[in-house]
Amino acid sequence: MRAVRLQAVGKIGLGDIPAPRPSPGEVLVRVLAAGICGTDRHLFKGEFPCAPPVTLGHEFSGEVIAAAEGVSIPLGTRIACDPNIACGTCEQCLRGRVNLCARNVAIGIHRDGGFAELAVIPAHRAIPVPGLHPHHAALAEPLACTLHGIDLGAPIPGERVIVLGGGIIGLLAVQLARNAGADVTLVTRHPAKRDLAMTVGATHAVATEAEAHALWPQGADLVLECAGVVETVEMAPRLTRAGGRVVVLGVMPQGATARIEPFDLLFREILLLHSFINPFTQGRAVAMLVEGRIDVTALISRVIPLSEAAQVIANPAAPGEVKVLVVPY
Ligand code: NAP
Repeated sequence: MRAVRLQAVGKIGLGDIPAPRPSPGEVLVRVLAAGICGTDRHLFKGEFPCAPPVTLGHEFSGEVIAAAEGVSIPLGTRIACDPNIACGTCEQCLRGRVNLCARNVAIGIHRDGGFAELAVIPAHRAIPVPGLHPHHAALAEPLACTLHGIDLGAPIPGERVIVLGGGIIGLLAVQLARNAGADVTLVTRHPAKRDLAMTVGATHAVATEAEAHALWPQGADLVLECAGVVETVEMAPRLTRAGGRVVVLGVMPQGATARIEPFDLLFREILLLHSFINPFTQGRAVAMLVEGRIDVTALISRVIPLSEAAQVIANPAAPGEVKVLVVPY
């Protein structure tokens, strides 16, 4: 079957590999759509640890076409993959902190994922998506990650929220914070993304820190960092009001550093939080998508065949582009 393989850092391409077969507890999925994520580009550049050679693709939907003996999920079930397989037995897992499991195995990062015609995943990581379009189901994973960030930041009605970065994570965060009843300003440089933010519910969309500051001079109750670059990580506390919260969702390259002023965090009692992946949020994300509570159609910039995926992953996102979906068939 055809699969997009990361062979080594900086080396990715479409190849032919044997079709996988489900082991005990697993299902075989015909992939229907897989999203290209900022993290795929981090993996290509060696900025996020992974285990090549590996088929990338950790955000995908599909149809169960075979199952190992004893697996109860009916053939033909449409699913969204939750890519994170925590061990379930370590101290963090037993405390319910499954996203901190040191033995977590991520599908599409540590084992073969969804930029392929077929994928094998554990049955308990296949979340049924009744009635959901496969393109929308592929967005369940980024929505689940963003939900975790929202859970940590906990915006409430009437609060002011600033979202930094107008990629898929930022534009999902805008919608979740609005659904929570907050006023939301998106800060992103590209005008098309600012326009998009307004169409999906942002109250304001601006290009720079100075504009955000002019809008809300006291700062925001909650700043969600969704860009993963040093500028926005450093900007986040500056745009937060005294007593407010920062949640960093963006992934900066491993080993990179940012300058934060501890005195400022202390004196203004700013809570600085980090949000990593999707602990127990994938089911809620699917439910929100099924109920149509999040506009994902507007966030899908283009749909490409498997043959174009490596090229797109190896290059920066096109200006104004939000989510590119790979459709293998
Ligand atoms: P993305 O498409 O690359 O979006 C990042 C956005 O940040 C871009 O759209 C860019 O838009 C904006 N940006 C860059 N520099 C900026 C600046 N100086 N000021 C304002 N905006 C700036 O990535 P994504 O898929 O949305 O993901 C966002 C980050 O979250 C990535 O680092 C990704 O790896 C990470 N992530 C984390 C989790 C988690 O569990 N924590 C899950 C998924 C992804 P403009 O060009 O318009 O400014």
